[in-house]
Amino acid sequence: MTSEFSLIERFFTRPTPSASLGVGDDAALLALSPGMELAISTDMLVAGTHFFPDTDPRKLGWKTLAVNISDLAAMGAQPRWATLALALPQVDETWLAAFSDGFFKCAGNFGIELIGGDTTRGPLNLSVTILGEVPINQALRRDAARPGDDIWVSGTLGAAALGLATLQKRVQLGEVSRSHCLRALETPQPRVALGLALRGIAHVAIDISDGLLADLGHILECSGCGAEVFFNDLPRSDAVDAVLSMELGRRCLLAGGDDYELCFTVPPDRCVEVDALSQQLQLPLTRVGRVVEHRGLKLLDVQGRPIKIEETGFDHFA
Ligand code: ADP
Ligand code: MG
Repeated sequence: MTSEFSLIERFFTRPTPSASLGVGDDAALLALSPGMELAISTDMLVAGTHFFPDTDPRKLGWKTLAVNISDLAAMGAQPRWATLALALPQVDETWLAAFSDGFFKCAGNFGIELIGGDTTRGPLNLSVTILGEVPINQALRRDAARPGDDIWVSGTLGAAALGLATLQKRVQLGEVSRSHCLRALETPQPRVALGLALRGIAHVAIDISDGLLADLGHILECSGCGAEVFFNDLPRSDAVDAVLSMELGRRCLLAGGDDYELCFTVPPDRCVEVDALSQQLQLPLTRVGRVVEHRGLKLLDVQGRPIKIEETGFDHFA
């Protein structure tokens, strides 16, 4: 029988050289670097709501941490530490070993140390609190977009939602598209380097977790302005492009969750810097619209005519 403590010891205790005190005491101790403020965010993944209970535990471990890292990326913060609260229906050592492996793979990739958590019996539930640092007053918030700013997004949109649709058997894809979309869904790549590089360039940033329209909507709401978005310019992979004539395809592109790309606004005279960043990071960055004074979000076709918007993003309580 594995006790709670040997479980923590075995699966969730790794060296934490950057913490004054890590796993094992009543609390961890951390010191911030001089001139930095603390950025903190929590995201919970609930079996049946955010993932299928039979999801590959290694990928689930990666994603549990990755979605949290994405929130700090969207703040322009450097992620540094995390805590993990786990509810497990039973102790399944094979499952735990794989989950822990995926979690620490992601942690290692992004230089994050696991410094504590909580472990209890209960319906499968994974909750991470991530902590990071950002120079005082330099975080990329949601409330500073200005009319005239260009709206940009990183990477491509819609593949994760299309991956979910294939798992739900709502669409059939070819082998190449299917594995591309499942990779997007199961092992998202948080845009930390981009977030850090956008400090001092972007006015606002948000990570696209609930779909472009919803998340851009948050920026507009917080900033008190509106936007025009050019539908044809929205970056999409071949897999999403191939289904764009279907309602499902449009929905994935505009309102698909789980992409974890960044949406940000930049004053037009700095677009050269964004193009240079795209080169430097080897990451597509695409201008998809502009911020306008008049409230509301307008989607425009190639001729600049408004397209009716039916899609909204994901809302747990809607
Ligand atoms: P307490 O009874 O003081 O709340 P716990 O028994 O919950 O302590 O946890 C013991 C130690 O193990 C604490 O330092 C806690 O942060 C850490 N811990 C518990 N669960 C996890 C986990 N899943 N991952 C990492 N650390 C954990
Ligand atoms: Mg506890």
